[in-house]
Amino acid sequence: MSILSKLPFHDEAAAFEYLEKTLWADGPVCPHCGTIGTATKLQGKATRMGVWKCNEKECRKQFTVKVGTVFEHGRIPLHKMLQAVYLLCCSKKGCSSHQLHRILQITYKSAWFLSHRIREAMRDGTLAPMGGAGRRSSLTRRSSASKRASTNRSAGMAVNSATSS
Ligand SMILES: [Zn+2]
Repeated sequence: MSILSKLPFHDEAAAFEYLEKTLWADGPVCPHCGTIGTATKLQGKATRMGVWKCNEKECRKQFTVKVGTVFEHGRIPLHKMLQAVYLLCCSKKGCSSHQLHRILQITYKSAWFLSHRIREAMRDGTLAPMGGAGRRSSLTRRSSASKRASTNRSAGMAVNSATSS
């Protein structure tokens, strides 16, 4: 059994469960009002996969675990997007959009958007780095666009990236 045979990479419900367990360690977090652990999972037949409803009186809004993540508004099934994240993170030299297109059997356009979103999340630093702070050296081979962006960062960061590349 390879790691890609694991259920969250193949089953949409398992993929949602995996992401919920990973991102919501203390229970579902409502992205609208920020309340933790008071939402109920909607389980009706007509309900989309992974929809929760906030139980706060003034909120009562619906959300999924994808809100506020790179997976939001993605039309590709979540389990395929998880595969893409894994492929981009696990390989030393990354994974090209063409490779994602071939492996995941999605259109090249979708693969391109997906890999750019994931890379943007890695570069931006707004999401918590997977597995702790770690070194940035794997991210030094970046496009000229992101190199330009990095020159706009604080002096300390610029020195860091200059010494590591
Ligand atoms: Zn809420």
